[in-house]
Amino acid sequence: MKLLTADHLVTGDGERVIEQAAICVDERGVITDVGTETELTERYPALEPSRYDGCTIMPGLIDLHVHIGYWYNKPDFTEYDGTLKALLAASNLREALSLGVTTIRDVASEDGLCRSLKYARKQKLLVSPRIYDVNQGIIMTGGHGWQLKGSLREANGPWEVRAAVREQVRAGADWIKLMTSHRTHTPEFTQEELDAAVDEAHRLGRKCCVHASMQPSIQMAIDAGFDTIEHTTFMTVEQARQMAEKGLVWVPTMATFFQLAEHSRSILRSQADSHGLLDEALQLSESFFIESEKAYRENFAKLMETGVKIAAGTDIVLDQQPITPVAEEIALMVELGMEPLRAIRAATQTAAEVLDQGHHFGTLAPGYQADILVVQGNPLVNIACLKQVREVFLDGVSVFAGTN
Ligand SMILES: [Zn+2]
Repeated sequence: MKLLTADHLVTGDGERVIEQAAICVDERGVITDVGTETELTERYPALEPSRYDGCTIMPGLIDLHVHIGYWYNKPDFTEYDGTLKALLAASNLREALSLGVTTIRDVASEDGLCRSLKYARKQKLLVSPRIYDVNQGIIMTGGHGWQLKGSLREANGPWEVRAAVREQVRAGADWIKLMTSHRTHTPEFTQEELDAAVDEAHRLGRKCCVHASMQPSIQMAIDAGFDTIEHTTFMTVEQARQMAEKGLVWVPTMATFFQLAEHSRSILRSQADSHGLLDEALQLSESFFIESEKAYRENFAKLMETGVKIAAGTDIVLDQQPITPVAEEIALMVELGMEPLRAIRAATQTAAEVLDQGHHFGTLAPGYQADILVVQGNPLVNIACLKQVREVFLDGVSVFAGTN
């Protein structure tokens, strides 16, 4: 048994905060008690508390949009064989823990990679966050990201889409993922194909998510009833209402779009400096990210007010960036108008519910797994504190200890 105490404790349910708090965890890594320090030290007089002065105890973070073995962005990407991809993934997973992320949902990686990582985790060959995954993403021939062979499976027509879903289930996928929009208004899959994917996934007991940024793909994804819709960058208020009504969850992944917009601005600047003229194709692609950032900035608060469920995911694609900057995603939600407690819930309780694990982790309450993040300071006053990671516990075991 261990007893942790801190100045504040955020349960993750979007409401409850305890001051001068304590949490008790048993040998199995299950939370047995949460309350004030006075209550718990009285109840467990034999336990010597580990004190985190000036800190906040909260649930470990959940990142619902990760590509854990993403190597395409490496300048030396041709060197990456299966072994190197696995080592890269293991290094990314360790980094995720150091950022307070205790659960990830991988939404397309090399065929079989996540299955091996989950197996290695089970065999204790790997210390890593909990992993849920889709195995390969499903796209139409020539669809979004088609060059990333191995991580994506092309399929055409409702029955081939169903076959592709079945292949992912056979490969151990917990979820199914489709991609149906690129940077134009032409939707990729037809409505019939999207409907078939959702029906087949649900029939086989899997939830399904979809990459849809543009119109009319967004509407088609809502009509098909995907459990989570990723990015959904140019969603209208009316569509957010429809999602709320149907209980579909929005994973906006703003951190990556804001990062890519910044990156695009610097590319466009350097192009303009060097040639005085901009390459047209490049300008189109880069201005997509700048427009995307603008759409999030202008619409996030209005979309949020419809009551649509929002969950945190990051989708980092640039090299040399932390793989799971959930703290950044939460900070953006706060910057754009969300209450800090609610933004934290997007990466804890809500995200756990999306994974159908809302009874198991993602909240600090008796009976839940002790996936705990301790940060220096109070994120409810300054959301940037989420980056000051002091210690991370997974199933009650310390998996990362910061230096501050
Ligand atoms: Zn992605």
